[in-house]
Amino acid sequence: MASKLKIYNTLTNKKEEFKPIDPAHITMYVCGPTVYDFAHVGNARPVVVFDTLARLLRHDFGKLTYARNITDIDDKIIEASQKSGEDISVITEKYARIYEEDVAALNADMPDIVPKATDYIEEMKSLISDLIEKDHAYEADGHVLFQVSTMQDYGGLSNRSVEDLLAGARVDVADYKREAPDFVLWKPSSDAQPGWDSPWGRGRPGWHTECSAMIEKNFGKTIDIHGGGQDLIFPHHENEIAQSKCSHGGANLANHWMHNGYLTVNGEKMSKSLGNFVTVHELLEEHGKNIGEAIRMCLLTAHYRQPVDFSSDGILQANKQLTKWYNLTQDVTATKPAEEILEALRNDLNTPKAIMELHQLAKDENRKGELLASAQLLGLLYRKFDSDLTVGVLEANAEYEAWLSEREEAKKNKDYATADKIRDRFKEHGITIKDTPDGPKLEFD
Ligand SMILES: [Zn+2]
Repeated sequence: MASKLKIYNTLTNKKEEFKPIDPAHITMYVCGPTVYDFAHVGNARPVVVFDTLARLLRHDFGKLTYARNITDIDDKIIEASQKSGEDISVITEKYARIYEEDVAALNADMPDIVPKATDYIEEMKSLISDLIEKDHAYEADGHVLFQVSTMQDYGGLSNRSVEDLLAGARVDVADYKREAPDFVLWKPSSDAQPGWDSPWGRGRPGWHTECSAMIEKNFGKTIDIHGGGQDLIFPHHENEIAQSKCSHGGANLANHWMHNGYLTVNGEKMSKSLGNFVTVHELLEEHGKNIGEAIRMCLLTAHYRQPVDFSSDGILQANKQLTKWYNLTQDVTATKPAEEILEALRNDLNTPKAIMELHQLAKDENRKGELLASAQLLGLLYRKFDSDLTVGVLEANAEYEAWLSEREEAKKNKDYATADKIRDRFKEHGITIKDTPDGPKLEFD
């Protein structure tokens, strides 16, 4: 009997059996990008994690509707527009398009629905009106705020209590707020800022409001899975829950909440504010589109709830491994994913275990069809084999090229000891140097 899907639910802090509302049609929503800049590799992690989950869900269940929104109205976008002098729509369309290209290079399928916040302003306004009517929100100074203390079980996702939030209130609370933890549903726009007419004056929605309204419009009150990075748990997801639950008579916004861990660089979270980020776009520009698959594999080598460390070495190792598997499966037709891989993925999306199983499959001459089908379930080995792949690896590897020129230099100086040392260094990476009339060529074991 096939195993059942278990996922860790942030709402209950437990790994649980996944119980869909309708097993014939799964619904999933993941918070998408705010489009004013390039996505860094840390932003790519949820894309790859939830794309992999989507592939499993499509395999195991009849139908999946997967939505990932685009936030195209936000203070950061307004700032970027003021800085560059470009129109907001020029900025958001440009970065939404680049985002699409970047995630396509990671072999992440387009979600079934890509709702854009600015297409849902009417829905947001009616959600806000409803919350005012139900005494969960109030108008003050052109703002509409959600009053956190009106919701008894606020804080259930992030394990915070209203009392603690009230007690921990900072002194410098905006004077239009009744209580410090209250959050903005609607805010006023100046003439220079984009805005929409509303019963509370010309203004724009708060970020949290966007997702609640888009989920309701596309799916109704409750969805099966809501996902995102762990940094979204508080306040963003907590506030999504507050808005939707209070508007929907207490109905769950999502039955399962899934959050991926950080991408780290030398143990620190990769983030824009820390300045330690690498954008997907620059990696693709530098190394070619094929490197996207290696980035994807790299992101899958850690369990999604654990941090994953980013290093170019990790990406190169992944690329090397993929090249091997491409070689092994070049004349092979995909059959069906191996049971042990499905088993690993159904256990809270254990991708490191699944990749380990791929290594095992690769050793078995008779299971190449399963190797290919299993890798493809993980979003890997999807390209047709092309003989340029090894060249791709070479291009991917600025470090190897530096070693090669170092070796050429040593040979020119008749420093054969150094040249040999470099050859051994390559050997440690599983690479043999072949000197040919066209210069040295690298062969991967
Ligand atoms: Zn959201």
